[in-house]
Amino acid sequence: MHLWSSVLVGALGALSVGYWMAYIQLFLHEAGHFGLARDRRRNDLLANLFIGSWVGMSIKAYRKRHFAHHRDLGRPDDPERTYYERLSLRFIVESLSGVRVLRVLAHYQSVATQQLTLSAAEEADPKERWPLLVGLTAHGLLLTVLTLHAKWAAVGAWCVGIGSINPFLASLRQLLEHRPIAGATALPARYAALRMFGDGPFASTFGGAGFNRHMLHHMEPQISYTRLADVQAFVESSELASWLIPHQSTYRETFLHLLRADRRVTGSDPSADRVEAPAK
Ligand SMILES: [Zn+2]
Ligand SMILES: [Zn+2]
Repeated sequence: MHLWSSVLVGALGALSVGYWMAYIQLFLHEAGHFGLARDRRRNDLLANLFIGSWVGMSIKAYRKRHFAHHRDLGRPDDPERTYYERLSLRFIVESLSGVRVLRVLAHYQSVATQQLTLSAAEEADPKERWPLLVGLTAHGLLLTVLTLHAKWAAVGAWCVGIGSINPFLASLRQLLEHRPIAGATALPARYAALRMFGDGPFASTFGGAGFNRHMLHHMEPQISYTRLADVQAFVESSELASWLIPHQSTYRETFLHLLRADRRVTGSDPSADRVEAPAK
């Protein structure tokens, strides 16, 4: 195959791998709220086996962090606080290049060194490390097989998809869910937007597993994503219908609005440059 054809195939492959792996990871959230199976132990086993092992995170560790997100939404303590970062070219380049992940790790390292302790959400239980080991083995085996067969475009696609596209998309989605659109002034330190993103093919895959109705999920986190469309229909048929309207948007519209608005944010947003753990 011609070199440029291989590069093109590799690039498309990387986009696909990153996008669909991000989609699968969204179901870790449903498992975090015990929505995969009636039995909680079976729920966690399924989540660890089929999702956590690809992500390298156990469901228990994810649940601790994610419940803190529900509890501390809009506060600097929120462990899923990508929305405190400006949507800028720097955010995009740093997310794609992996620099942002390194900054996150450096941030946690310095917090751990300064405080000599990690919060419960960040503490890793050694017994919960097996999904990470299974994941490393699975990714390693796949890359070994592809390398032995000299499938270089596929090797590149997998590495870039998992290492670059996937974390970028996950961080971007989380930012779009909660970052307020500021005016010319700085954002308030304690505030998070709540949005609904519609039902199109992109919204229901980029924001799959109910993330496209993220506002309703924050209102009623115990309701499975499979019933959020019913909740929305119920609200829209009630006198609360007008209350939903200002929260409705699309991913594209929110992205463009934030890109424009964040260019104008010049004040000292005290939380603007905080970093967060890799988003799921
Ligand atoms: Zn949220
Ligand atoms: Zn949740």
